[in-house]
Amino acid sequence: MKRREFIINSALALGGTALLSGCGKKEIKKSENQVVKRKFDNLEIPLISLGCMRLPMRDGKIDMVELDKMVAYAMEHGANYFDTAYMYVEGKSENAIGEVLKQYKRDSFFLTDKNPAYLVNSPSDVYKIFKEQLKKCQVEYFDNYMVHNINKNTIGNYRNNDMYGELLKLKKDGLIKHLGFSFHGDPAMLREVIKEHKWDFCQLQMNYLDWEVVNADELYQIADDAGVPVIVMEPLRGGVLCNLPDKAAQKLKQECPDETQASFGLKWVASKPRVFTILSGMSNLQQLKENVDTFVNYKPFGEKEEKVGHEIAQIIQSQGAISCTACKYCMEVCPRGINIPGIFGLYNMYKGSTAPNAGFMFVYNYNALEESTRADKCIKCGLCNKNCPQNLDIPKLLDEVKKAHAEAEKAMS
Ligand code: SF4
Ligand code: SF4
Repeated sequence: MKRREFIINSALALGGTALLSGCGKKEIKKSENQVVKRKFDNLEIPLISLGCMRLPMRDGKIDMVELDKMVAYAMEHGANYFDTAYMYVEGKSENAIGEVLKQYKRDSFFLTDKNPAYLVNSPSDVYKIFKEQLKKCQVEYFDNYMVHNINKNTIGNYRNNDMYGELLKLKKDGLIKHLGFSFHGDPAMLREVIKEHKWDFCQLQMNYLDWEVVNADELYQIADDAGVPVIVMEPLRGGVLCNLPDKAAQKLKQECPDETQASFGLKWVASKPRVFTILSGMSNLQQLKENVDTFVNYKPFGEKEEKVGHEIAQIIQSQGAISCTACKYCMEVCPRGINIPGIFGLYNMYKGSTAPNAGFMFVYNYNALEESTRADKCIKCGLCNKNCPQNLDIPKLLDEVKKAHAEAEKAMS
């Protein structure tokens, strides 16, 4: 088969309707409806970006056809910024996004990747991992690149192995255009990290719930004061803010009837001026279309919406939800394969529901989990705690869920 035929066949296998330009790359049919952009180092970056942590899945594998459609739609609407990482989707996210993006001219999209601090045990590991990532993503450089997940457990690896110095060399070689870090530590640590080096940007977990109940407001202020541009991660807190507890959902409907739960959460963080893009982990084309629509018709929020966000956060907090974002990092190290985010998700749904059958549904759904993955199979080794960016005491919380489950079961009998 000739090269051109091969490219066309590959493109068709992936997406079905690829139009290829003279250089064998897919033509982008630009829609009139472009998402709003923000400036970052003289670049125009879309305010909404595709986070590749929760890619579309089918039969236990990444659904490449759906992903191809999502990327095409995003590109057509100017949402051409993609964010992946070494461990996303059990290490398969980089390959998947690279396979789809290779259809496009390299300068038509921005691609971000991250060096996992927790896996770096010597300075040479930094380049070893980086090289592997370039290969997996099928690119020659990354637009933005980060030390991934600096927190109390990884700061030693980051410092002792001079990750910044190693990455700076790659930046000088043109393999990284902008150098930053993603962060899950406390404000004091952020101050130190920001002061230590000259960073091009940082990535912070920001949403109206973390603003109110954790310290996202302080973290943002530190970055803002230092003039470091911010990328937002977890704007919807792993889906929590688009599956609001009943009382919080009612409040939003009453105060902002034109907003969906997702559009409200995304616009809330977009109102912070130091933010230049918001990563949202989207799992299907429909979610992407809705998010794109939010930022095509974007109007900044004012004081009223700011206040509504705080009020909804207080409602959520009063219901005692577990602040798990379903990132699954804990599951990578759990020797028992406990379904930690699944268990916490069911518990949060139960706590946030005002439905009369909430207890029954909690017990029913919990009992439907694979028996070997339930809370009572936890051996309390504590390995998961070290990987949790939310600093949750997972074994303790699993005990709480176990107790709530037993009580709900008893109430049914
Ligand atoms: S403490 Fe329990 S949930 Fe955590 S890693 Fe150990 S077995 Fe898994
Ligand atoms: S418990 Fe922590 S590490 Fe596990 S999925 Fe939730 S937020 Fe992520």
